[in-house]
Amino acid sequence: MTRPELRVSTRRLSLNIAAVRDRIAPSELMMVLKDDAYGHGLTWAVEAGLAAGVGWFGAYDVRSGVRAREILGAHGRIFSWVTSVDHEIDEALRHDIDLGVGSTEYLSAIIDRAAAIGIRARIHLKIDTGLHRNGMLPEEWEQTIDDVRRAEEDGAVALVGIWSHLAEASDEEDDQARREFLHAVEVSGETGAIPDALHLTASAASWWRPELRGTVSRIGAFCYGIRSADGPDLEGIAPVAELSATVTAVHGDEVAVGIGSFDGIPSSLAASTVGTPAGGRSLLSVGETTSRVASWPGAAVGDSVWIFGAGDHGESSATTLAESIDTVGEEILTRLTARVRRVVVD
Ligand SMILES: *Cc1c(COP(=O)(O)O)cnc(C)c1O
Repeated sequence: MTRPELRVSTRRLSLNIAAVRDRIAPSELMMVLKDDAYGHGLTWAVEAGLAAGVGWFGAYDVRSGVRAREILGAHGRIFSWVTSVDHEIDEALRHDIDLGVGSTEYLSAIIDRAAAIGIRARIHLKIDTGLHRNGMLPEEWEQTIDDVRRAEEDGAVALVGIWSHLAEASDEEDDQARREFLHAVEVSGETGAIPDALHLTASAASWWRPELRGTVSRIGAFCYGIRSADGPDLEGIAPVAELSATVTAVHGDEVAVGIGSFDGIPSSLAASTVGTPAGGRSLLSVGETTSRVASWPGAAVGDSVWIFGAGDHGESSATTLAESIDTVGEEILTRLTARVRRVVVD
């Protein structure tokens, strides 16, 4: 039986990257790669990003940062922000990866490792601006900056960035976060230079709230053409990935399609619209390896059905599917299992 295919388009990714860069300039794009590049495949995403001229890559964990570095060679900056253990810190330093630092314990660990192996760590300090998900508290910021300046004099670290993450729950909260962020930058400036990389925003705020953008914008979803849940379509951006499966049987007014929950399709997606050679049809049910779809005239075994994509065959986008089950577009993509074959197209 033919396996379902996730086709990722290199051309579409480059077009999205260009649209994002146009929109956010002069802020620089950091292309976010977490969750295997939102399920699209990290190796492909880094290669395509490099070819499109992306200068910053957000790798989340050190392991994916190292994979990105192996592809990038001496090109590009890599930012890894999850708190990592000592041997991972060593790996990061040896692979020229910048580290995001959100706690004093992690800062100490990095200073120790940098001194031990004799490689200066490039760090981006994170200020907690209200999300309470990792980050230095405003009351410990001044002391932390002092500690970092001392470690800089000892040659262990270089403070190259200050960053935070927005809740994106309301504009007012994000404005308040921005004030706290700018205050943290100012405190750093009083003790010496302000680092080059100031970053606060992800896809939505980078796109819609220009006043919140820093010198760098960390963007995942919009690069891959995943719009925000309940958000509008975006000019110049379209889905990079389409998921298709094959008709395995035709029974009267419905067809069986070789894809199901074992491939990572939530069974709650039943009743959504999928694409067929004759346009949009209803997804009737999702089984383990087979789903049922409303038939069309001339439906035949071997026909393709599109579960999500750019809409060329009447299918929904990943975000539209996600909205019907109260989640976000990334979730639909990152849930796909290894049974789904990844295919790169131009
Ligand atoms: C996931 C993530 C991003 C990217 O978010 P998108 O909405 O996909 O652009 C940026 N920064 C951090 C810290 C993240 O975890």
